[in-house]
Amino acid sequence: MEQRMKEMKPITGNDWQHMRTATKLARYALDHDETPVACIFVHTPTNQILAYGLNDTNKSLTGVAHAEFMGIAQIQRATGAHDREIYKDITLYVTVEPCIMCASALKQLGLRRVVFGCGNERFGGNGSILSIHSDESTAAANKYSSVPGLLRKEAILLLRYFYVRENERSPNPRVKAERKLDLETFPPMEWSRYVDRDEFMHCFGAENVRHFDDKTDLRDQVEWGLIDEPHDKVLELIQRQCDAFRLHTAKKFKS
Ligand SMILES: [Zn+2]
Repeated sequence: MEQRMKEMKPITGNDWQHMRTATKLARYALDHDETPVACIFVHTPTNQILAYGLNDTNKSLTGVAHAEFMGIAQIQRATGAHDREIYKDITLYVTVEPCIMCASALKQLGLRRVVFGCGNERFGGNGSILSIHSDESTAAANKYSSVPGLLRKEAILLLRYFYVRENERSPNPRVKAERKLDLETFPPMEWSRYVDRDEFMHCFGAENVRHFDDKTDLRDQVEWGLIDEPHDKVLELIQRQCDAFRLHTAKKFKS
């Protein structure tokens, strides 16, 4: 636990910014007929995005095309599949808690830190179902720190938008009242599933600890601008940073 604490850095403005980018990318996914789950991988020393991922399970018709795997494939193309050095400098920002499969892959690669929005009630590997990131299973030496709850409401709302739309398209839509979009109520945030009280204060400051105790979100307000309008430009912006990073690594390997 002490080791985990050392790795667990206080949440900064950069972390919020990167979660905003990931959330816009999830909105982009929604606008392109995918599940609104997205992630970006950030090279922490340079604060630069080096890879990103969208869920691609609808289009590819495969259950394993999770956002995290798409990002990992990009990193491997840039640095070579056998170079795992880089993962220790990477933080993953993802709108929904990584599933058990992805959590295990991230751990085996040696990623150091994950920041996510809402929990994954059915398959979560960072505390909801299993705690792959901090347990003694596969690659126990590679435990990584995991911080939940940034832009959680936004992540939940995007999933609600998606399910309501899917229901409207289905041949037997449920009755109208049932599929009314709920924009106001959210399940309690069970912080203790993911971090203990000390870790929470370390990450978010002692002044915010009431949120841990009350099971409430860090921020009352929903950032509607992130989820209520298309963000078609976001992919371009991310891509540009990823390309710059690839050039950067190419140069490094040349010299
Ligand atoms: Zn996954």
